[in-house]
Amino acid sequence: MPPIPVKEAKEAGEYDYFVIGGGSGGLASARRAGQYGAKVGIVEGTYRLGGTCVNVGCVPKKIMWYTADIADNIRKSVAYGFGDSATADKMVSKFDWTTLKHKRDAYIKRLNGIYEKNLINDKVDYHEGWAKFLSPNEIEITSRDGSESYKVKSKIFNIAVGGRPTIPSNDDIPGAEYGIDSDGFFDIEEQPKTVVVVGAGYIAVELAGVFNTLGTETHLVIRHDKVLRTFDPMLQDVLGPYMEKTGMNVHKSSNVKKVEKLPNGRLSVTIDSADKPVEADVLLWAIGRHANTEKLGLDAAGVKTDKKGDIIFDEYQATNVENVYVVGDVGGKELLTPVAIAAGRRLSNRLFGGPEYKDQKLSYDLIPSVVFSHPTIGSVGMTEPEARTKHGDDNIKVYTTSFKAMSFAMLDEEHKQPTSYKLICAGKEEKVVGLHIIGEGSDEMLQGFAVAIKMGATKKDFDDTVAIHPTSAEELVTLR
Ligand code: FAD
Ligand code: NDP
Repeated sequence: MPPIPVKEAKEAGEYDYFVIGGGSGGLASARRAGQYGAKVGIVEGTYRLGGTCVNVGCVPKKIMWYTADIADNIRKSVAYGFGDSATADKMVSKFDWTTLKHKRDAYIKRLNGIYEKNLINDKVDYHEGWAKFLSPNEIEITSRDGSESYKVKSKIFNIAVGGRPTIPSNDDIPGAEYGIDSDGFFDIEEQPKTVVVVGAGYIAVELAGVFNTLGTETHLVIRHDKVLRTFDPMLQDVLGPYMEKTGMNVHKSSNVKKVEKLPNGRLSVTIDSADKPVEADVLLWAIGRHANTEKLGLDAAGVKTDKKGDIIFDEYQATNVENVYVVGDVGGKELLTPVAIAAGRRLSNRLFGGPEYKDQKLSYDLIPSVVFSHPTIGSVGMTEPEARTKHGDDNIKVYTTSFKAMSFAMLDEEHKQPTSYKLICAGKEEKVVGLHIIGEGSDEMLQGFAVAIKMGATKKDFDDTVAIHPTSAEELVTLR
């Protein structure tokens, strides 16, 4: 079983292709190169393969989203004749976070094992340890306990080291260190009674949504007055108020000023806009991420980064140093697992797949993404303000609809989730340049529409497609 023993690793000889980082992008790229018969190695610093997505990102997060969604459905079931509210509330309040957490961990462990097997199948040498460059063609790998180190040469290197959460320093916010980040979220053993989540992006919205839906008293602290400010305004305007309606305490235009540890072990979190500090079990920073580039010895290889520390790369994932490439979060562009995987596979196709792939590269245009909020959000292409700036007001036509999905028909008005869709079209032919959807099922709905939009669909193509009834998605082909 991998990783390969140190003695063997030391004698591995020069590789054709060596990937630093066993996450989404690195694994996908290494395996693809291995499938073409290249001599490939990969090094991972932690004790588990899969990177952020598998261990402390998409996968365990989605399990938590499903868990919260089930809680929502238990509440909803009453309106469909299953028991009464008191019974439903009791079921939700009996949710056993600890048991679920351990089952989730076991599932992730199984995935780690599958990734190891995949490397064997594709004949990729799995090295264990932390890598740093000695020169453009040589790295040093130091074992996790620091006891061993050895050098590895390769004709080509791919840097796929991802990133990690950014947290404020104690100098910025006294007591900031008492907070956890999204990695720490997945270590929580017991459901907290009260949490404070700081941030307004994907992670803050998703994790605050999980806590709130599962019945934890949730405070979300945002610097401005809306969440998801980089998304289309319609999404911000629908999600924010619904979060508040479902009981989340959203502290707008607010900042955490101070955090203190109380004798009872809880935290006292001072928020500048609140009358008194919030006493919380958990404070979670979700204010962005940054690349893992500081300890990589990039200077020794001559690889350039931008001011933020992200590695600069071109449309072919190439850095400024010949034969050193980059994929995934470490490049700071579209921090999404499928982007890292697609970039990694295309790169290996181009490098090792023969003439048919000689120009293959990832297009970063029209990348769809989903926010696993409650309800979910799907987004592809330009926001309305972006489209107006790019094409001019006169060349933009926007179609919107808002309604309550049929699955809420049996619920009273107060408990129905919102649904809003927006289609942004440009030019005379009304080419679809943006689609933004919020409402139940948006996560699963977006992928197919993203294909059509990537193919250049127009509003007429949408209109010419016969609706599927009764669904929410049908509203997108009947917009007027
Ligand atoms: P990573 O997956 O981070 O892998 C990098 C690997 O390199 C790590 O395993 C690291 O240990 C290793 N490494 C670092 N330095 C070294 C070194 N010097 N030597 C050896 N190894 C090293 N994306 C989605 O598409 N959908 C989602 O729903 C989603 N949810 C997310 C939820 C959370 C909470 C977070 C944090 C992220 C989420 N993402 C999601 C983003 C997604 O996880 C990342 O975009 C993706 O993991 C990036 O892959 P990567 O290969 O670039 O880096
Ligand atoms: P994001 O960049 O999405 O959001 C971070 C937000 O935090 C900023 O937009 C900013 O919002 C706010 N912020 C920044 N600095 C501060 C500060 N000092 N104090 C308070 N608020 C601050 O980062 P995330 O960490 O949420 O996620 C990182 C990336 O991971 C995402 O961009 C996404 O690509 C990926 N991801 C994808 C998911 C998915 O596909 N479903 C899920 C989770 C992560 P403002 O300016 O409005 O204050």
